[in-house]
Amino acid sequence: MKLLSFFLALFLLTGCQQYEENAHLTPPNIILFLVDDMGWQDTSVPFWKEKTPFNQRYRTPNMERLAAEGMKFTQAYATSVCSPTRISLMTGMNAARHRVTNWTLTKNQSSDGVDTIIRPPAWNINGVSPIDTIPQTVYATTLPELLQDAGYFTIHVGKAHFAATETPCEEPLNCGFDVNIAGHAAGAPGSYQGLENFGNNPDGTPKNRWSVPGLSHYHGQDIHLSEALTREAMRVLDTVVNKEKPFYLYMAHYAVHIPIQADARFIQPYLIQGLDSVEARYASMVEGMDKSLGDLMDYLETNKLAENTIILFMSDNGGLSAVARGGEPHSHNAPLSSGKGSAREGGVREPMIVKWPGVVQAASTCDDYLIIEDFFPTVLEMAGVTDPQIVQDIDGLSFVPMLRQTGTTAAGRALYWHYPNIWGPEGPGIGPSSSVRLGDWKMIYYHRDQHFELFDLAHDISETQNLATDHPEKLKELAANLTTYLQSVDAQMPVDLSTGETVPLPAKVLE
Ligand code: CA
Repeated sequence: MKLLSFFLALFLLTGCQQYEENAHLTPPNIILFLVDDMGWQDTSVPFWKEKTPFNQRYRTPNMERLAAEGMKFTQAYATSVCSPTRISLMTGMNAARHRVTNWTLTKNQSSDGVDTIIRPPAWNINGVSPIDTIPQTVYATTLPELLQDAGYFTIHVGKAHFAATETPCEEPLNCGFDVNIAGHAAGAPGSYQGLENFGNNPDGTPKNRWSVPGLSHYHGQDIHLSEALTREAMRVLDTVVNKEKPFYLYMAHYAVHIPIQADARFIQPYLIQGLDSVEARYASMVEGMDKSLGDLMDYLETNKLAENTIILFMSDNGGLSAVARGGEPHSHNAPLSSGKGSAREGGVREPMIVKWPGVVQAASTCDDYLIIEDFFPTVLEMAGVTDPQIVQDIDGLSFVPMLRQTGTTAAGRALYWHYPNIWGPEGPGIGPSSSVRLGDWKMIYYHRDQHFELFDLAHDISETQNLATDHPEKLKELAANLTTYLQSVDAQMPVDLSTGETVPLPAKVLE
């Protein structure tokens, strides 16, 4: 009897200790796993109503595992290129409001291509800034700053691309991160290969602005950048695990952005199945990224952190399809039209999954739409930050009600995109434009010639039927809606070079 009491006491004691361990770990750890340039179909997880040939092609078993443990979002949106998405994530602002409408790199230098029809406005070419004295930046309180203030240990791993060179946020440590692994101003790595020193010189010094910083330990090794970043993330997590602070890990892979370089661990089967060499390399990068996700999930389980860690999986823009890929251009996100850089669905619809143990129902699906700036208030709500002190006005709405299945932000809400810029390549939906989605309807307004496209996404996900002429009332409604929003945030429009006038807002064209 005494022995039984002893074991009972031991059980209660360890039970209490377990409880207290969990209690001091709340609020939850948060991993935001952001992939670069990953398309909606670059996965074996089906995000459409049926499995597609691309779902058959790609192998992402760990995304399947995450989807089985969490909620899949079938209509999650970002912007069509890198920096606008990343700034929206950091600030909660729509690109029309934060004005970092194109990708950033060099201080005071625009990344816009040359155009004979329009001239882009003076957008915020220097990115986001935590101080308000730097020209052409958006001054904002960033998500990691707020998490830091709330007691989180904040870790940046991978691609930053928040701000131009020689401005504070080219270094993530200056905008809310406690640790920075490999992040700087550039939006791509010089090389994914450790054997090529990730684009650094043989002596380890930077070769150019694309040289990945801070991973000299791996130089000369036969290791892919995705693997090196994953090992570094776990090394940093080792220093915070079981300490007092919860952590925020912003795991922002450089993959699967160009240069399309093989992840040697995974390429062989794709070559054997007959993919051309570029597409085989691309698929191997996708699988290498997926391996990273799986390794982090394993790490959480091994360290008994899985139950108190939220994982959000997202991509920053649509899959690249206009250039640099094997096969037909503009075909790599089918059934979606076009790809990165386009206002069409292929440019902005993303694979998104959220695992939140104890809150999100396993293997669930949410078809309600949302957009990248929504991550800002959502992550704050997850972290228990109820009254954030921020200097900017935000557009994002928390999607926690969708995660809890208690409500939705999608009903009656319009989503907006604004890109008064020149990306470079041409193709469907590519070019300066503003667009709006309301319900199943989506309208794209092209700045160069001020023409419209109107699509019914419920019946035409591939955006093949322009209904602008057939549904003039709907066109007018959406143009008015978009115009009101653009005016409310004082959105910048380009200049029509033939007239020297600012391109009119969409409602004006239909008057
Ligand atoms: Ca990107």
